Amino acid sequence: MSRRTKIYEGKAKILYEGPEPGTLIQYFKDDATAFNAEKKGTINGKGVINNRISEHVFTRLAHIGIPTHFIRRLNMREQLIRQVDIIPLEVVLRNVAAGSISKRLGIEEGEPLPHTLIEYYYKDDALGDPLVAEEHIACFNWASNEEMHDISSMAIRINDFLCGMFAAIDIRLVDFKLEFGRLYDGDYSRVILADEISPDGCRLWDMATGEKLDKDRFRRDLGGEEEAYREVARRLGLLNGEDNSPGEVFDLSHARSRLRGPPPLKK
Ligand code: C5P
Repeated sequence: MSRRTKIYEGKAKILYEGPEPGTLIQYFKDDATAFNAEKKGTINGKGVINNRISEHVFTRLAHIGIPTHFIRRLNMREQLIRQVDIIPLEVVLRNVAAGSISKRLGIEEGEPLPHTLIEYYYKDDALGDPLVAEEHIACFNWASNEEMHDISSMAIRINDFLCGMFAAIDIRLVDFKLEFGRLYDGDYSRVILADEISPDGCRLWDMATGEKLDKDRFRRDLGGEEEAYREVARRLGLLNGEDNSPGEVFDLSHARSRLRGPPPLKK
């Protein structure tokens, strides 16, 4: 395995230096955490499934014109992405009451919301990712008004598209979290979709039975999390012709030499 530079390690993913400037490799771990990492565990095979699901979702979003950091999947656990400056907000879209909104406002889980809600949480582990208003975002300069305009309009389009995509496979998209980043081009920057979209950051309920097919199985000790994640992938048609390639780690030096052409001949 070639040695490579780790840029950042999060709870479920690791970012490594990419083969070209402006790129990174996003590695999906099996580690699972909940309640701001108070609960820790692993879900076997989660990284492989989330890599596939996220690839699928980001590719489909790109087809409807959503700019994303995704370039291509490299192998079972890794994808090549564009390097961005992450905007320190978790953007949560809710179609049905569940989780923290049910707790905070006393709304019964499963109650459909009269319209989709967008919430913003300030990304700060030490503070426990507090809910913030757009006023706070502007006041503390976490994102500009133009960026917030782009983020909210992209988020609504993503929600509409994903609700349809999941409804087609009998899954209700209850809520989900998005992250966005700034992509620089000289002095100019634009906002693009970053991070991942997978059952780690979505609530996905079976339409017929209400069964949870997401990380709540882990958070709430329901068991069957591996099967639930695989079921989402299966319904999306991602388990046929499974990629069983053994290489789980992208060989950076090999990729670099391929990008630059063969090394000069020794004299
Ligand atoms: O916990 P809460 O109800 O606020 O979560 C809303 C949605 O955002 C859920 O789908 C959850 O999986 C996702 N989320 C996340 N990462 C967080 C907080 C929430 O993916 N740090």
